[in-house]
Parts: sequence; C-alpha cells; structure tokens
Amino acid sequence: MSRVQKYQRKIKKYLSKLSKIKFRDKLDNLILRIGISSPPIEFDLVDTHVRELIFPCNLGVLFCGKFENTLFEKARNELDKIFDSFFYHVSNLGEFKFPIDVLSRGIKKEFKEVDKTKKKLEMHPTNKFYQILINNRIKNKLDMILAITDLPIYSSSNNDIIFLFGEANLKHRSCVVSSLKLKEKFYNRAKNKNLFEWRVIKEIIHEIGHLILGLEHCANNSCVMRFSREIEEIDVKSIKLCEECNLKLKKVRKSFNI
Ligand SMILES: [Zn+2]
Ligand SMILES: [Zn+2]
Repeated sequence: MSRVQKYQRKIKKYLSKLSKIKFRDKLDNLILRIGISSPPIEFDLVDTHVRELIFPCNLGVLFCGKFENTLFEKARNELDKIFDSFFYHVSNLGEFKFPIDVLSRGIKKEFKEVDKTKKKLEMHPTNKFYQILINNRIKNKLDMILAITDLPIYSSSNNDIIFLFGEANLKHRSCVVSSLKLKEKFYNRAKNKNLFEWRVIKEIIHEIGHLILGLEHCANNSCVMRFSREIEEIDVKSIKLCEECNLKLKKVRKSFNI
C-alpha cells in the first residue's frame, strides 16, 4: 500500500467516525442559528416632523397583512386600561400593502428553526416599516404609530437578534409587531385564536411601553416589559406592567400633568 493510499484510508476512517458522532446535527444547528444573510440594504429614514412626544397623544394602528377586525378593538381596550389617559385617540388606519418593489428590498433569508424541511423565511428589515410608519404618521397628523404585520422581521440596527417579535423606534415615535411567530401554526401546533390575539396584544403593549418609558427592558419575569426571545417567554409574562414599571409610568404621567 502506497503512502497516499494509507492516508486516504485514514481520512475515510475519520470521516465515518465524524458522521457517527452527530457532527451533522451540530453543523445543522449552527447553520440554523446563523442563517443565511444577504447584506442588509439600508432604508434612509426621512422624517420632516421629528419632535418630542407630548402626552396625552394620538396613536394610529396600521395593519400590514390580513387581521381580524376584532383585534384592533381588543388591543385598544388593553391600551386604554394599561396606559390610561396617555392617548386621547387610538385610530385604526386599516390595511397597508407594500408596493412590490419596496417589499422585495432588504430581504434576509433565514432557516425556520422549528421546521425540519429547512424551508427558508424571507425576513424584512424594521427600517422598511419605519419609513411607511413615518409617512403615515405625518399624513394622518398622529403623534405615535404602530404597525402589526404578518411578515417576519429583523432589526435594521441590531445584528444579534435574527427574528424579532417587535421593535420600537423612539426617535420616529414608531413601532412594529410581527405576528407570524406568535401563531401556534408556526410551531406546527393546532390553531388557537385566543392565545394568538393575547400574544399580539402583549407585544403591542410592550412596544408602546417602550415609546412611553424608553428602550430599557424589565428584569421581572411576569412584567410585559420583559424582553422575549422565545414564544414561551411571552406566554409566561403577563399583559401588565410590574410595580417598578408602573412607578416609571407614574413619573411620566406626573411630568405631563395627566
Ligand atoms: Zn423590548
Ligand atoms: Zn417591569
């Protein structure tokens, strides 16, 4: 046997050993976590009406995708309860559809982590939503605006988080909540409308909470201002602010005399 043949045999042996120690599983996990990302395309945010938020204010809710009409009413009820007297008007801005050329920009492809078929998700940058929100906020003379979308989203400013439930932009008084990962269907489980709506509303309260209280997260497990990376963390937390966050809210309330 030649030297080359000897090495070839050795390499073959190592390769078969590697395949037995679940190397592929480990590699798959790594790829799942990293995903496939194309360089993000920047959307320059143009805002001609940047100014400080004054409370009470008016809030608009824009739907990017198909949602049941009842969702808006339920969300408004909870917003009124938790942020009582912060909004003098909460309006439903209806459904918005991205023009095709805008929709296709800035897409990042990531593997769906719970899907064994290795299907890729096309995720959209949050900046894409902020520009639409800024335009709609100005057009409708609103102080604050929220988008609820069924599209998966990634953060334009934070590369550490691959798939977001939502994000707030304080400067532009805008926030976005993505509903896709809040559906039981996403985890290959049976549809649960109540649970889905409850999760969406929790995330709405969380993002609006940021626009009022700032970007800091709360360490309390049951507080709505706790950061959630996984769906289980959303289900564990309540829809309400904890005592500490409520004190912060009181301070804001006091500073605006409301
Ligand atoms: Zn947050
Ligand atoms: Zn809290």
